[in-house]
Amino acid sequence: MSLPPGFLDELRSRASLSQVVGRKVMWDPRKSNQGKGDMWAPCPFHQEKSASFHVDDRKGFYYCFGCHAKGDAISFVRETENVSFMEAVEILAREAGMPMPKQDPRAQEKADKRTQLAEVMELAVQYFRLQLRTAAAEAARDYLAGRGLTPQALEQWEIGFAPDQWQGLWDHLKAKNVEDALILGAGLAKPSSKGGRPYDTFRGRIMYPIRDARGRAIAFGGRAMDPNDNAKYLNSPETELFDKGRSL
Ligand SMILES: [Zn+2]
Repeated sequence: MSLPPGFLDELRSRASLSQVVGRKVMWDPRKSNQGKGDMWAPCPFHQEKSASFHVDDRKGFYYCFGCHAKGDAISFVRETENVSFMEAVEILAREAGMPMPKQDPRAQEKADKRTQLAEVMELAVQYFRLQLRTAAAEAARDYLAGRGLTPQALEQWEIGFAPDQWQGLWDHLKAKNVEDALILGAGLAKPSSKGGRPYDTFRGRIMYPIRDARGRAIAFGGRAMDPNDNAKYLNSPETELFDKGRSL
């Protein structure tokens, strides 16, 4: 679940930390100065008789000079109620009278799928770049050097190499426990028509990622090493991440 920008800032400014903390501690009336939002109490996170737990109500932060526990209203609720970040946000939002933003479950599912696909694409970028350093990529390295591409340029453009194997990337991703559907959904492999294992989309090619404005790898471009290959240049197929009409 994601929150709209500014929601947490609003929540932190609306929630009174001294009120939240006040339910769990006994303030030390001699040390505290309520008017200044400067509150002290024995620490709720470690055993003590003196008051070394400090709340700065205006800044919304707490700090314990004994055990060094520190944080804001959200972390205080997380720690003391033993709940997740989002549950703590919900508790505080209810108290502050802030309605939680409604999530469209289908939109959320789609966003999660895209994030997962982008993660798989990133694994592929790493794989291709590593392959460019292997013995199998010697001709590819020679070709790139012949085109005047310096090591810095290769770094900058994240140039890699897809070895001439049917399941090179596939096996690599499967070894990392990536689901079949995500590899296929990212356009990195194609289902076998004969019922065998899916096979890599890119084989025997110099590879480079195509990134979107947010920096996510959404597709690959690949140049064939074999001059007889019937597709000298090959791009990723359309996927949920890669809309050719919009991206190219
Ligand atoms: Zn403490």
